[in-house]
Amino acid sequence: MANVDLDDRGLLVPCGACGKTNRLAYDTLGAAVRCGHCKAPVPALGVPVEVHQAADFDRIVAKSSLPVVVDYWAPWCGPCRMVAPELEKVATRQAGRMLVVKVNTDELSDLGQRFNIRSIPTLAVFANGREIARASGARSAADIEAWAEQATQAATNA
Ligand SMILES: [Zn+2]
Repeated sequence: MANVDLDDRGLLVPCGACGKTNRLAYDTLGAAVRCGHCKAPVPALGVPVEVHQAADFDRIVAKSSLPVVVDYWAPWCGPCRMVAPELEKVATRQAGRMLVVKVNTDELSDLGQRFNIRSIPTLAVFANGREIARASGARSAADIEAWAEQATQAATNA
């Protein structure tokens, strides 16, 4: 599975024009970015981000300027395989508006325990560093989008 590189400050994506790596800083995700090398526009990330360390997860959630939709999943879970392509659609359609992050709870069992994930797939929405919604079970991309948007708006208006 293709994955997105990241560091302490942001997501590392190749420029579509020159191939040079650009950093999309977590705290300005969704803002227009131009390649530091050739000045071509660098599009917002349109794929899910797979995290492999709890520290990366914490950093993204704490700093992201966009709402973060988290998918807690595991390789052996059938419904997780059903929801995976739906999340890819969400990531593509909501590029620059939401960030989709995948957490393998077998690999990152400490995160699963910390957030008390009892069944998978579980989806959660984080905004401004805190969890604002959670739902378990597979659902369609359209349902995920509507649910995440509603949660984000409710949190913004609160
Ligand atoms: Zn470039």
